[in-house]
Amino acid sequence: MRFLAGALIIVAAAACTSSPSTETTASTVPFSTPSLVVTDQLLAELDLELLARSVSRLRQLDFLQPVSVQIIADPDYQMRVAELTGGPPDTHSRWLQLLGLLPEGVDAGTATTRLLQTSVAIYDAEANRVLVRAGAGIDPYVESVVVHELVHALQRQHFGAVDTGRLDGDLGYVYTALVDGDAERVARRFIGELSQADEFAYEEGRLNASEGAAAIRGGTPGYVFDSLSQPGGDGVRFLQGLDYQTVDGFFADLTELTSLPVSSEAMIIPEADTEIPTLELPRLSLPSYQPVQGEGTLGVGRLRILLGQVLEGQLANPAVLGWAADRLEVHASGEDVVLAYVFLGDRAEDAQELAAAFQSLLDNTLVPGAYGSVRVSDRQVLVLAASDSSQEAELDEIYGDFGDEVFLVPLG
Ligand SMILES: [Zn+2]
Repeated sequence: MRFLAGALIIVAAAACTSSPSTETTASTVPFSTPSLVVTDQLLAELDLELLARSVSRLRQLDFLQPVSVQIIADPDYQMRVAELTGGPPDTHSRWLQLLGLLPEGVDAGTATTRLLQTSVAIYDAEANRVLVRAGAGIDPYVESVVVHELVHALQRQHFGAVDTGRLDGDLGYVYTALVDGDAERVARRFIGELSQADEFAYEEGRLNASEGAAAIRGGTPGYVFDSLSQPGGDGVRFLQGLDYQTVDGFFADLTELTSLPVSSEAMIIPEADTEIPTLELPRLSLPSYQPVQGEGTLGVGRLRILLGQVLEGQLANPAVLGWAADRLEVHASGEDVVLAYVFLGDRAEDAQELAAAFQSLLDNTLVPGAYGSVRVSDRQVLVLAASDSSQEAELDEIYGDFGDEVFLVPLG
């Protein structure tokens, strides 16, 4: 999936605002004339000075430049969200469609944009502003989302922008978890300081916002929803008890990304290994198929989201335990797609457990008529899937030496 800088779902809404404590500027933008009066009222209710001061104090960073906060009409908000999060057709989605985790014709990027359009606010890094959706109104819940987004502005001002080209695979998950976990932790501290009356108003606002988004959310594939919501939650847990000096240290090198935790496993699983062994996968080369750039690894974070779509409750957690390394290769030819995924477990038992989880996934969700197979070799698992089942012979040719086939999706 495309990487979304600083755009994350906070249950129903995401808001990003940053403003300096002394120079906060707030403005309405007359995109839609009828919304002007409403937004003026809303803006008067939003105490930006106070919010900015709270954010600065709670995050222990000063705003280096003013950030404007704009409350805009819903259609204008939705348009800007689409501009910020949209992009070229999402070729990454095709392997997710093959696995049945996205409905045919639905790409992850579009589904993500639709979901984010229901958010209450978003940090628009390009324009150094936070946009608040007027329809969300102003209440302590919306303010907490603005706080979250203001932290993103602080992150941007102090640590710079990340080279998103380096963020595919597990590293993208790690980065998103840290950035959103950091922002969400501050938002929770802000909520923790609310008066009792405001706490009630917060809860009411949160429920209202969730209701408004429910229709869209209901039509959002679980994989997309979880991909937006889980990294932040993992980040909050990982950051628990860490001081800001340590947190700032993770953002010290956003060019080469050498200062980030080594894997999502290192963030999610206590006392995980910090060494990642090299993992060789026989080269996937099929006539007329070309590699689809940008996956590389799933890591514990995304593997858990993937398996969580088919495994009941908490069963995805034990399945991803004992992750040592993994590699994903996706190749496409026209509309057809092939994926090869190899997993290395700490122990042979870990590989067995993961193989069983993938059997369940392929058995339940692989698109009809596709080829799917799971093979196990000691500590390694190989998962193959191809939309064109006639690729089976070619795949056997490449991977025939890889351990035992423990599962083959029945055809017909
Ligand atoms: Zn965020």
